[in-house]
This record gives sequence, structure tokens and C-alpha cells, in this order.
Amino acid sequence: MNIILLGPPGAGKGTQAGMLVEKRGMVQLSTGDMLRAARTSGTAMGKRVADVMDRGELVTDEIVIGLIDEALDGAAASGGVIFDGFPRTLAQADALDELLSGKGLSLDAVIELRVDDEALVERITGRYSCGACGAAYHERSKPTKVEGVCDACGSSELNRRADDNEESLRQRLMEYYKKTSPLVGYYHAKGKLRSVDGLALMGDVEAAIAAALEG
Ligand code: ADP
Ligand code: ZN
Repeated sequence: MNIILLGPPGAGKGTQAGMLVEKRGMVQLSTGDMLRAARTSGTAMGKRVADVMDRGELVTDEIVIGLIDEALDGAAASGGVIFDGFPRTLAQADALDELLSGKGLSLDAVIELRVDDEALVERITGRYSCGACGAAYHERSKPTKVEGVCDACGSSELNRRADDNEESLRQRLMEYYKKTSPLVGYYHAKGKLRSVDGLALMGDVEAAIAAALEG
């Protein structure tokens, strides 16, 4: 089964993708993670996208479509693919259709995580994670037990994303409503859209997604 997780920044796409990977053996393809990895390893492309990402703007369709094209072959052999943060524009959605059909694959469902803007600001401006093991925390709702030390692995390498500040977030939301939210209507028209309440408790969101994938 191949699915898209759709929703604004902070809707919980990454968290839910992680659960699907764990429970169903699916593979998560996150263009955001791929772009951050390119930055960390200092590739030419990584350097080119850094400022754009930090401002909260979208990188070019060409770059992310190329990343997905490369990653898809290996991923498709698994229990299915979760597209997380891709597609984000109608051009990307068209490209995905072509990539999938070219590889003899299909798209089974698009899960929209619905949340309101206030909740997004609250979630994103407080979040940080462990650079060593990836564990996720939040200043107000889920701080580390000992300040500055990861509960899971004891590392003190706790980081905030460069684009998780109010100004970049406002820009990311603008990009979402302008360029990505039209995909909600597009996939609805294709009969693929399933909407779930992204503000419910994590486990309830997980259950709602499982139910949406059955139906
Ligand atoms: P979030 O969903 O929290 O905004 P992501 O990790 O998915 O974060 O993406 C971070 C940034 O990476 C985006 O703001 C954008 O600059 C870039 N990016 C990720 N995926 C795409 C995409 N499909 N198209 C264009 N830019 C992207
Ligand atoms: Zn850790």
C-alpha cells in the first residue's frame, strides 16, 4: 500500500509516519528529512536549499521530484511507501502520478491531518529533538526529565530546527495554504482523500488512520 500524509507543518505527519513504519513495515519517504540530510552532509544541493528552507519557502519542484524518483525504487520493494511532505504542489502531484505509473505502482490513499493554526504555532515553536537518537520533545507538553539531557539515550545534543521559529513558521503556513492545500481538493476529486482529526491524542490519530486505510 502506498499513501500520502498531507497536512500543514506541525500536523504530526512525521510522528504518524513513524508509527506506520513500526507497525506495518512501510518505508517513509520524507522530502524534508532528505533535504536536511543533504544539508548536513554538505552536498552542493544541500547548500543551495539551506536559505530557502530556513525562510520557510518551498524548494524547487525539480529538486524534490528528483529526490523522490531516486528513493522510490528501493522503497517500493517494501511493505509500501508513505510520502511525508511530498507532494506539496500540484506539479509535484502530477510528477508523482507519472513516477508511480512508470514503475507500475499505484497510490492507495491520501490521509489529510486536519489541525488549526493556533495548535500548529503552539506545537512547532516549542519542539526540539535529540540529535543522537531522534527522540522528540516539547518545552511545554513533553520536556526532557532532566533539562538538557535526552531521556532515551542520555545525549545532551538537543536541537531545534532552524525553521521552527515564528517567522519561518508563518511563511511555511502561507506556502501550505497557497500551494499545498489545493491538493486536498485534487485528491478528493480522485476519490483518494481520507481526513482525520490531527488534534486528537496521538494514539487516536493512529487508530483513525488505521480505520481510514481499511475503508
Ligand atoms: P514541515 O512539514 O514541518 O514544514 P518538512 O520537514 O516537511 O517540514 O519540510 C521542511 C522544509 O523543506 C520546507 O519548509 C521546504 O523548504 C522543504 N521541503 C520539504 N519538502 C518539500 C517539497 N515537497 N517541496 C518543496 N519544498 C519542500
Ligand atoms: Zn537521544
